[in-house]
Amino acid sequence: MSRKRDYYEILGVERTAGDEEIKRAYRKLAVKFHPDKNPGDREAEESFKELAEAYEALSDADKRAAYDRYGHAAFQGAAGGGFHDPFDLFRDAFQGGGGIFEQFFGGGGGSDASGRQRGSDLRYDLQITLEEAAKGAEKEIEIRKLETCEPCTGSGAAKGSKAVVCPTCRGRGQVVVSRAIFQVAQTCPGCHGTGRIIEKPCHSCQGEGRVEKTSRVKIRIPPGIDSDSRLRSTGGGEAGLRGGPPGDLYVVIHVKEHEVFSRNAMDLSCEVPIPFSTAALGGEIRVPTLDGAVTLKIPAGTQSGSTFRIRGLGMPALQGAAKGDILTQVQVEVPTRLNAEQREALQRFAASCGEHNNPIHTSFYDRVKSFFT
Ligand SMILES: [Zn+2]
Ligand SMILES: [Zn+2]
Repeated sequence: MSRKRDYYEILGVERTAGDEEIKRAYRKLAVKFHPDKNPGDREAEESFKELAEAYEALSDADKRAAYDRYGHAAFQGAAGGGFHDPFDLFRDAFQGGGGIFEQFFGGGGGSDASGRQRGSDLRYDLQITLEEAAKGAEKEIEIRKLETCEPCTGSGAAKGSKAVVCPTCRGRGQVVVSRAIFQVAQTCPGCHGTGRIIEKPCHSCQGEGRVEKTSRVKIRIPPGIDSDSRLRSTGGGEAGLRGGPPGDLYVVIHVKEHEVFSRNAMDLSCEVPIPFSTAALGGEIRVPTLDGAVTLKIPAGTQSGSTFRIRGLGMPALQGAAKGDILTQVQVEVPTRLNAEQREALQRFAASCGEHNNPIHTSFYDRVKSFFT
């Protein structure tokens, strides 16, 4: 494959160009390279495709920001890798999904001369557990969306019938009406601008070419994903109109709160109570991880609230082999129900401490001495 040209270069605009300027540049060039104007011209067709791709990327604020940051790498599928913005994961997580710019004719939301219109993008909010976010998961979701009508393969015409040139506008899609002294071109009311009407509409879709259906979609969730990441399925949105390309499906991930761990990027933290004797004498405790419990050494003289870092048992990175840590904060538990023997032992302990075995206590009262006089 030859080197991919810079999108701004293709559109002939500066990197600082505003939306309007980009749109103008696109329109001008689209007219020049449009296949209808250059029948059989391979070069013009290639230019047109390139142009449509550039426009699709730069006319969408999210995609443009991604392109500005990562260049073409931003739009490479899972095979290409290289793009790992945690907030907008342009990664094809769907089975059978294609490249991001596979279909773009008639794209950009509007409808082209033949009335083809890109289908709407869809959003699906998916809740997953922290464990699923850590290990990755495969999920099946159910969505209701407009899909291409099968009996008429999206044409909207009944079997044996076909679309004919609209008699009102003679296929132009527009009619000219007079308004005072002006002549105004208007979308043809007979064909809604498509230039064609259907003799006999398809029974299943009433000529719409699309029907609402529930479909099941499998999603692969990559390990390390975080809340608000978007997974995108190219063409997984609603079917286009009159043969237009389908929209995309975005799955927005929400990681449920965990009963033990809270997450900060790749690190997990949790609180673990320890007996005060362990805190004073040192010892070992068991702490939870997402893969079962591990043993943690507690040094003698550990204060309540101290945090211990257990390396490499946190969340995995979205890409690469790095792993976060578990931060265990210990809470020293003060015993509440002492029997006579325990009470006596503690009293003896207190008496033997005198004034000087509680360094934090001593330095605190040194600092606040003035408040007591
Ligand atoms: Zn018409
Ligand atoms: Zn139909």
